[in-house]
Amino acid sequence: MILKILAIAAVLFLVYIIFFKKNREKDIIKKKDVKYEDEMVECPTCKTYISTKESIVSNGKYYCSKDCLANK
Ligand SMILES: [Zn+2]
Repeated sequence: MILKILAIAAVLFLVYIIFFKKNREKDIIKKKDVKYEDEMVECPTCKTYISTKESIVSNGKYYCSKDCLANK
């Protein structure tokens, strides 16, 4: 009887560990995505902070608009 309870407890513990680990991995992936989408960068021309999502990338630099890209 005790062995049976221990076996069930062990299985539940393993399920809990696997589930918890999966959730943590999901959270880490989520955080990475959010960071990538919402990262704030400074426009080198007008010094305005813009999110990388809305910026124009040129030579590894993020510009807020085509005007700033042209006037770099
Ligand atoms: Zn700008």
